[in-house]
Amino acid sequence: MGVPSGEIVARPMIARACGCLQEFQHYAVDKYREQRKAKFQKTRCPACVAKLVEEQRRAATLPKKGEAFKAIPAGTQITMTRKADGTWSGTLIGDGTTVEAVGEGPQGLSLALARGWLLARGAGKESAPAPAPTPAPSPAPAKPAAAPIAKAMPATKPTPAAKPK
Ligand SMILES: [Zn+2]
Repeated sequence: MGVPSGEIVARPMIARACGCLQEFQHYAVDKYREQRKAKFQKTRCPACVAKLVEEQRRAATLPKKGEAFKAIPAGTQITMTRKADGTWSGTLIGDGTTVEAVGEGPQGLSLALARGWLLARGAGKESAPAPAPTPAPSPAPAKPAAAPIAKAMPATKPTPAAKPK
């Protein structure tokens, strides 16, 4: 049997694939210690595995390239600037929402901006902290006769957001 048994005789700290040092247990009886150790060194620690899984889950929710560019609204403007160190910084303004990003090149940057806009407008809601509520403007004194739009509708209807597929 390859199952180690007996007492743990040593607990050296060994670096795993992710770079974290973790305790590796040497059992008194363990025919396959070298194999176990090799596997231990080739794999990530549980914390880093969890982090990786979470990153992959998040990446999977980001829109793909084609979808991201299709989903941003008409009239969207992107400004990109090449900086002295060769990296790029950019700003995207779409439908009143401005996002900024930096990137290695204009192509990746434009995608990052488009994704950033989509996250800002929807997908990121769950994790983004709620913005501080802007103080409501003090109600203007009612002047029915003077106000040019005295018969304002109760509330301006929000334009329906693009439905996510
Ligand atoms: Zn780790």
